Amino acid sequence: MTSSARTMPLVHAVNVHKAFGRNEVLKGIDIDVDEGEVVCLLGPSGSGKTTFLRCINQLEDIQAGRIWVDGDLAGYTEKNGKLHRLKDKQVAAQRREIGMVFQRFNLFPHMTALENVMEAPVKVQGRKKAEVRAEALALLDTVGLSDKESAYPAQLSGGQQQRVAIARALAMKPKLMLFDEPTSALDPELVGEVLQVMRDLAAQGMTMIVVTHEMAFARDVADRVVFMDGGVVVEQGDPKTVINNPQHNRTKAFLSRLR
Ligand code: ADP
Repeated sequence: MTSSARTMPLVHAVNVHKAFGRNEVLKGIDIDVDEGEVVCLLGPSGSGKTTFLRCINQLEDIQAGRIWVDGDLAGYTEKNGKLHRLKDKQVAAQRREIGMVFQRFNLFPHMTALENVMEAPVKVQGRKKAEVRAEALALLDTVGLSDKESAYPAQLSGGQQQRVAIARALAMKPKLMLFDEPTSALDPELVGEVLQVMRDLAAQGMTMIVVTHEMAFARDVADRVVFMDGGVVVEQGDPKTVINNPQHNRTKAFLSRLR
């Protein structure tokens, strides 16, 4: 759907419930993310942040609620008030609009950096190699790796691998980028280079939802932070206000543990 035809936020999640067996992990999440907005999801481990990202990207089904991405109901069509699961092909088409970067970079080990970035546009979208190659080289340049196009993942540092993973996600020209603790598996000295790429991406207007424990990033880059605990949104707002002056005890306790 084109943005002009859409009247709702780019991501519109309403009353999202998700359980694994008897463990109810998301207990009615409402989150909106506007086009061009950067939202950081904060909260203690186990509060459901990763699960929520995975629901947006349809890596998990949900038991109740609705998630719209760019005006389309994620994973379902609705007829006469009833939801019908989309076919796998349709789900795959929706998921191509969303780029996701994980804690672990999981690049294809037998492919060079350039081949990793080119893989999906060529194999999934069936685009011409020469055209994709030019775009992939430009993306590697954007993430500061123009000299590493021929390197294999094992020859790259964790920070470099994560930057290739970001370039790979961007190669599909997503409308939305989801980041799931993208720096938490990195050695501390490599965190900055990945965060810088994310800052640049945010500055270019990419819509981003970022699960992170990097408070400085959240404070400086996010338009809004959402604090989750126990499967609910406890509070949200302007990053400086929430981080410097949290209103809820659970937010206060979480932030004080980080300091
Ligand atoms: P966070 O990202 O905030 O650390 P998660 O979304 O990873 O939280 O996890 C929330 C809860 O969901 C945890 O209790 C976790 O054990 C549970 N969980 C996550 N994924 C699965 C799964 N695939 N199967 C069963 N339980 C899961």
